[in-house]
Amino acid sequence: THFGFREVPTNEKAKLVRSVFDSVAGKYDLMNDLMSMGIHRIWKRIALQLSHVRYGEKVLDLAGGTGDMTALFRERVGDKGRVILSDINAEMLKRGRDRLIDDGVAEGVDYAQIDAEKLPFPDNAFDCVCIAFGLRNVTHKDEALKSMHRVLKPGGRLIVLEFSEAQGALFKKTYDLYSFKLLPLIGKLVAGDEESYRYLAESIRMHPNQETLKGMMVEAGFERCEYFNLTQGVVAIHRGYKV
Ligand code: SAM
Repeated sequence: THFGFREVPTNEKAKLVRSVFDSVAGKYDLMNDLMSMGIHRIWKRIALQLSHVRYGEKVLDLAGGTGDMTALFRERVGDKGRVILSDINAEMLKRGRDRLIDDGVAEGVDYAQIDAEKLPFPDNAFDCVCIAFGLRNVTHKDEALKSMHRVLKPGGRLIVLEFSEAQGALFKKTYDLYSFKLLPLIGKLVAGDEESYRYLAESIRMHPNQETLKGMMVEAGFERCEYFNLTQGVVAIHRGYKV
């Protein structure tokens, strides 16, 4: 496109993703609030609602980073439930753990440094698997989705909260300007890192859109798949069940 996406070879992608999150870990939460003007908190609350997670359930938060979703789930599952905060990146996981401890909500939370593509859990282990703003970074999405399906119990559901395709020509133009011009500038000024935020905007545009991702979930074995557009499709929440 006119924005000139870089094609990142598959084996290099994992390395690139790692270095991006190593570099942004320290400023990650601040940047989320700045870039989304705080709206990511609302998106995450809606994802929680759509997950139908209840008291006593077991939840796996994949690519959980600094633990926003884990904190929300943990409130829901109460003292009988369990939430695993997982991430491939040790720096992010460490920040997540420290934050949950500082906020006094670490009880009932376990931690796992794992790749969302290769889940080291037995079949039928979780009531809910969630991946928020993480699937975009996963190299082999089909494998990853199959593996998420495998670890879910029958009746369990997958929640994917992710950037998606913005809807409406005019809105799209504004959003392109924002994410390709303003976002890297904010990244440069606040986090001293223009490149990582340029990668962010690019990775969002390369990610499968609403319908494509839904198709991939069906392909991986999920049933009753549907999605919900938030903020005019800037973000979508996909939900699918294991039957
Ligand atoms: N879920 C958190 C949230 O919504 O705030 C964090 C999202 S953050 C944008 C993406 C996270 O995905 C990073 O913490 C990164 O380390 C992690 N990640 C990237 N590739 C991954 C993979 N293959 N498996 C697991 N985590 C991965």
